Amino acid sequence: MSQNSQTSSIVVIGSCSVDFTTFAPRLPMPGETLHGTKFMTSFGGKGANQCVASAKLGGNTYMIARAGDDQWGMKYKEYLKIVGVDVSHFYITPNASTGIAQITVADNGENQIVIVTGANNLLEISDVHTSAELIKNADVLIGQLETPFETTLAAFKLNKGVKLLNAAPGRSDIQKILPYCSILCVNEGEAALVSGMEVTMSNIVEVLTKLLHTGCETVIITLGEKGAVYLSSDQQPIHVPCKSVKPVDTTGAGDAFVGALATFLVERKDLPLHQIIGAACEVASTSVTKEGTQTSYPKKFDAFNKQY
Ligand code: ATP
Repeated sequence: MSQNSQTSSIVVIGSCSVDFTTFAPRLPMPGETLHGTKFMTSFGGKGANQCVASAKLGGNTYMIARAGDDQWGMKYKEYLKIVGVDVSHFYITPNASTGIAQITVADNGENQIVIVTGANNLLEISDVHTSAELIKNADVLIGQLETPFETTLAAFKLNKGVKLLNAAPGRSDIQKILPYCSILCVNEGEAALVSGMEVTMSNIVEVLTKLLHTGCETVIITLGEKGAVYLSSDQQPIHVPCKSVKPVDTTGAGDAFVGALATFLVERKDLPLHQIIGAACEVASTSVTKEGTQTSYPKKFDAFNKQY
């Protein structure tokens, strides 16, 4: 599929990985072989999660990523296509493995995780050049920090639309990309790492202000069950609450929020930001009521006009 100039595009540059999860009565000791009780394979990676969250809401999404030339790379590509993501810039990398996470979950909830970034680490600046037209013209470009930072930076420098950085996993050394961000979106832990400040509800305005002074136009901090708070230049901070739900699995809620935010930014340009953030909260809060990550993301639904 080629880029449709009539339709607003959401381009995600970032990670994709496959989670192999085993459930066992307890975690194995070094050298021990243990019988598990259940095994699950699921598609993940923050970039792909956000892309799928948007595609499921009807976003015109493109994924720029690298997977390995193993069975998982091809499977991931096929799956993204089925979900409605344009995969013409999803590159299968020779002699590389697809990014994976090997997770063991014990009955008491403890876990053990081994991550192999694999092809995610091979997403290079040359890929930005190859996908330059798509990146330049994206209405919203989304990046995260699970793939090489310099690649994301190069893409953000190129884009002429809304650049949305989800600074996850949190890092403290990302100052040089912040002036290129239209929106910086972080959770509380990431906000602490990027700002170098402890984050509490009593100093959150100070943290938002410090982050805004790094050069981005708007800073959003998501607050889990408390929704989100944001600050834009020349405005007062605004807290956007979310609905109260009984959480079943909060994994990937932040990614649901980012994907939904991007979708509504292009689809509902008529609405003020607090309503768009409220709708993104609605999607993310809905996702925590179901098990799984991408499988928990809701399909297109009316996330607006909700009263809390
Ligand atoms: P994760 O790392 O699990 O992907 P995150 O830490 O990046 O999540 P959060 O700030 O925890 O992101 O949550 C993002 C959004 O998800 C919140 O703004 C909210 O809308 C929704 N959410 C998360 N947890 C809950 C909850 N317990 N109840 C209702 N909504 C929730």
